[in-house]
Amino acid sequence: MNTLGSCIFCSAAGPFDRDEHPIPESLGNDDQVLPRGLVCDGCNQYFGVKIENPVLSSPPFSIERTAAAVRTKKGRLSSHVDKRVRFFSSRYWDKVIFAADDASQLPIIERPDGSGLLIVAPPPKYDELVGRFLLKMGIELLATSTTDVRSSSFDSARQYARFGRCNQKWEVAYGLYPDRKDLLVEKREDEIGPLETRQIYRYEMGGMADGRIIFCFMFINHVFATCLSDDRLGSYTEEFNRINGFSLVSNLKK
Ligand SMILES: [Zn+2]
Repeated sequence: MNTLGSCIFCSAAGPFDRDEHPIPESLGNDDQVLPRGLVCDGCNQYFGVKIENPVLSSPPFSIERTAAAVRTKKGRLSSHVDKRVRFFSSRYWDKVIFAADDASQLPIIERPDGSGLLIVAPPPKYDELVGRFLLKMGIELLATSTTDVRSSSFDSARQYARFGRCNQKWEVAYGLYPDRKDLLVEKREDEIGPLETRQIYRYEMGGMADGRIIFCFMFINHVFATCLSDDRLGSYTEEFNRINGFSLVSNLKK
């Protein structure tokens, strides 16, 4: 277990008065909190305002949170609101209420069968923010393990997560797990009616043969992977794509 008393991101000796959720409450984590003495209040606040807020209020998180009826920290149902289009939760899985002032102005790609595909793009610099968001979660989750999270092997990841400092673009691979039906964990019936339990998020820490640690995070069916030990995924993505029935694509290949 990691020792308490200095911040794992900025080395400050405190204060440590705020609850630090490694996975944000707004993604459905209502029980996992880090022990006090690992993340200082300054870093807690910085991540909340500068990283989590913009990432979670942008697609895909904003739309998926709405579609999965995940509540915000304050207990409200999520929504996705931008200048042209708004999605609200219907309280039912995968059914959203959609509103637009002028549907003819929406960025829709017409498909050969006559149907349309609405493109809701993430904001500028999203790549960088999502990378820092993943590293913040990864480092904090690592702090709950037996790995020494203050080891210099994670210095670049902590610097990039907290200060955005990096010599080059940090690699993040992203893909869509193809079948949302597989997210159904349990189905049962009680006196009120049928009840379904679905997976909202999960994560995995993978150790590569060369000792590097890969953090893989899945929210609904969106899969993200990044390396906590350096800014490159190396052979991980290739290996992942070989084993799985769907592909991750690196942000360096865009
Ligand atoms: Zn700190």
